[in-house]
Amino acid sequence: MKKLYPGGKAKAFNITYDDGVLQDERFVALLNKYGIKGTFNLNSELMQNEFSWTHPNGMQVKRLSVEKVKHLYDGHEVASHTLTHPYMYNLSDGELYHQLKSDKENLEKLFEREIKGFAVPFDYYDDRIAECAKACGFAYARKSEFTNSFKPCSDSYHWKTGIYHIDDNLTNFVADFLNTEEELAVCQIVGHSYDLDAENLWGTMELICAAVSKCDDIWFCTNAELVEFLKQNQG
Ligand SMILES: [Zn+2]
Repeated sequence: MKKLYPGGKAKAFNITYDDGVLQDERFVALLNKYGIKGTFNLNSELMQNEFSWTHPNGMQVKRLSVEKVKHLYDGHEVASHTLTHPYMYNLSDGELYHQLKSDKENLEKLFEREIKGFAVPFDYYDDRIAECAKACGFAYARKSEFTNSFKPCSDSYHWKTGIYHIDDNLTNFVADFLNTEEELAVCQIVGHSYDLDAENLWGTMELICAAVSKCDDIWFCTNAELVEFLKQNQG
């Protein structure tokens, strides 16, 4: 018999956005409108001083402050993205541990809940990072690699998501997901909410949210809920 997700749902859907920027306020409102759960990966130290940088198109990308994030992500997952968003290749073991462990502790204090997930900044990932995430008590660690499929990832410490939201194939990917009969199919979309402004993607994302929300065979979950379910039911 075909395995099913909680609630007897055939498919799972999650959106994961990184960096905790101003556009998350509009994006969370969009997810809430359609009953979709997001996972938001934050850098606690960059929230302290509302860090900002200039996008290649000239737009200022601003981080949300501590005051603004406190209740923004209610009903969604908050996960770690390191303290300061470093490129992790060159970090010493001590620096690596500090980046993960201190961010987890800061976020747990701020949001008054357990922080279960970690997502690596940029695109470098290795076993040392995976082991460190495990040692820091994370239930999963996500790398910046995509499956471009609906097959759920089977390794929680080398976690891959489905598709990057600027991928030209995004709309087709979601349409295929709505039609697929694959067992335990999952659609995970990853990105940053500032891209929705920079790439003019708000309309596309709203169409996707509206389309998946109409399907009553989808479990809308956080990344942590998905990992937890798969740990118990995969294999
Ligand atoms: Zn990032």
